Amino acid sequence: MPTMPISGNDLARFSGPQTFMRLPQVDSAKGLNVGFIGVPMDIGTSWRSGTRMGPKQIREQSAMIRPYNIQTGAAPFDALECGDLGDVAINTFSLSDTIRLITEVYDAHLKHDFTPMSLGGDHSMTLPILRSIAKKHGPVALVHVDAHADVNDEMFGERETHGTVFRRAYEEGLIVPEKVFQIGLRGTGYTADDFTEAAGWGFNQHLAHEFWHKSLTPLAADIKAKIGNHKTYISYDIDSLDPSFAPGTGTPEIGGLTTMQAMELIRGLRGLNIVGCDMVEVSPPYDTSGNTALTAANLMFELLSILPNVPYR
Ligand code: MN
Ligand code: MN
Repeated sequence: MPTMPISGNDLARFSGPQTFMRLPQVDSAKGLNVGFIGVPMDIGTSWRSGTRMGPKQIREQSAMIRPYNIQTGAAPFDALECGDLGDVAINTFSLSDTIRLITEVYDAHLKHDFTPMSLGGDHSMTLPILRSIAKKHGPVALVHVDAHADVNDEMFGERETHGTVFRRAYEEGLIVPEKVFQIGLRGTGYTADDFTEAAGWGFNQHLAHEFWHKSLTPLAADIKAKIGNHKTYISYDIDSLDPSFAPGTGTPEIGGLTTMQAMELIRGLRGLNIVGCDMVEVSPPYDTSGNTALTAANLMFELLSILPNVPYR
């Protein structure tokens, strides 16, 4: 039987280890099916900072999550050995060195066969993670939930930032462009055709307003049919949610997804061959109630619930 998170009936939820869901802290991914990894950085952000505190607060808010998903029946800990691999030791004075360090850490962990679930941190962390993922698995399908397409060429002359991730991933062949789905896009653009160039590469783009007042279940089914059994990475930017649901983020955009739509989307993707996930852009200084980190922690649990081999009751 895999290790269960510490129960709130055995040790009060406000005590115990500060790991994701109070899972065991481990140094190596050996023997794990799933490893949670924090990437506490915000030097790749362009507007409000604070995501360096994200992993800590997501872990804190995750302490209330119980091991069984009552609504869906998912019982991830009945089958998957899960642990918390701690934080990447980033270089807080250098974005480029941090990006190099992230790949180094993920390359080392991915010598073992496990699914990394990453807690951010700003979105620039996803590029070095995808480099490691593609090294192991080849180019992956991508479900990218975000208010922003993150396909700028440069920001202040820098090519690796939180707004350039998926252009670099495309150029470097880390993703299969026809199997990229960007969901929740909105807001204002630097130019009128900010998004459309990526559509030309093959990216499938879904603007948030297409789904106002609608269920995301049909979209999830469509994405699943189009991706098929291809290895898939899910990158979840919390700013995809409307700021009324998730205010604690650096680049908020109005008119976004609801928490319920986020859950419909994730639940609808069950069956995909997922090889990694991340939850990025949670900025605790702008999250005075803790609600954004609480939502991020629960969406991580929803993502955990749809991994391959999770039993359903
Ligand atoms: Mn983003
Ligand atoms: Mn964003």
